[in-house]
Amino acid sequence: MSRFEELKAILAQGKFFKIVCGAGNEDAEEVRKLSLVYTLAGALGIDVSANVEIVKSSVIGVDRALELAPKLGKQLKTRPFINVSIGMRGDPHIRKAKIDPNICSQCGVCLDRCIQKAISPDHQVIMKRCIGCGDCSSICPVDAVSFYDKRCELSKILPECLKNGAETFELHAIIPDDDSVMKDWILMNDILKDNYISMCLDRSQLSDSHLIRRIKEASKITGDRMIVQADGVPMSGGNNSYNTTLQAIAISDIVKKSNLPVMILASGGTNSKTGELARLCEVKVHGVSVGTFARRLVADLIKNEDFESDINMIKRAVSIAEGLVKENLEEICG
Ligand code: SF4
Ligand code: SF4
Repeated sequence: MSRFEELKAILAQGKFFKIVCGAGNEDAEEVRKLSLVYTLAGALGIDVSANVEIVKSSVIGVDRALELAPKLGKQLKTRPFINVSIGMRGDPHIRKAKIDPNICSQCGVCLDRCIQKAISPDHQVIMKRCIGCGDCSSICPVDAVSFYDKRCELSKILPECLKNGAETFELHAIIPDDDSVMKDWILMNDILKDNYISMCLDRSQLSDSHLIRRIKEASKITGDRMIVQADGVPMSGGNNSYNTTLQAIAISDIVKKSNLPVMILASGGTNSKTGELARLCEVKVHGVSVGTFARRLVADLIKNEDFESDINMIKRAVSIAEGLVKENLEEICG
């Protein structure tokens, strides 16, 4: 069975859980540790930024997980698929925050608010950790935070990522400009011809009809190799409530009702309630992608320097992560 067929079967059964390390997250150590923990917890997708060193880190984490699995009594039948996320200019997933020192009053409230711990005590953004979520900007009382895009040269970076262990791609394309989105989509399809390509979409800038029109056009290019990552609004879901994940399910429902030949992953604001809400609303999704909430669950454990050499700490993190994976998949598998 090819890797495409393997992934297709997993999606068809609604058994796909993806840990989202963050399209803008370039913290190699965090990505390696998250890949280790969530592989052992049963995730079959790992979403990383379009950066060869980050892809390599994720591969190291997965390899380590596969090596440790027998010791932890786990039978991992499928190696997770490493997905590289790319963002269009203007998409929040690839932006980075910047604090203007001339405006910042140094009140410090953004330090506590930033889940990524991407703001230093001297009120500067640590670029490799920032995922562009916007939480700092929304809480800043003096409007000191602005954003800039960090976009890569796709034709150079994507083949390198494939060579180093990535297997699928995702385009974050919430912007309204169809022409530039389709240009990148065609380019990605030319580079990756034998596995899934995902388009991450939400309704913050696109109407329902625009969203469906875009998916229809894109699926003509990729055929049955298209995933729609139905991204909730807002994109980061720190809280574990039904309301936080509501938009992820609503968007999944709209895509589902389009009857287009695409696989659907609920994402953005997803948490431990996502699978349950999808089942309650009778929205059939093929998997769930969880970012902020999943990272937060294990953050205190993986931040320890000796985490990777402490089997008991790894076991604790895996047990927590496994709970999240199971909660979601058991619900959507019915
Ligand atoms: S709150 Fe979000 S946007 Fe702001 S620095 Fe942290 S990760 Fe970046
Ligand atoms: S919330 Fe705004 S003013 Fe306060 S430390 Fe952060 S950037 Fe500066």
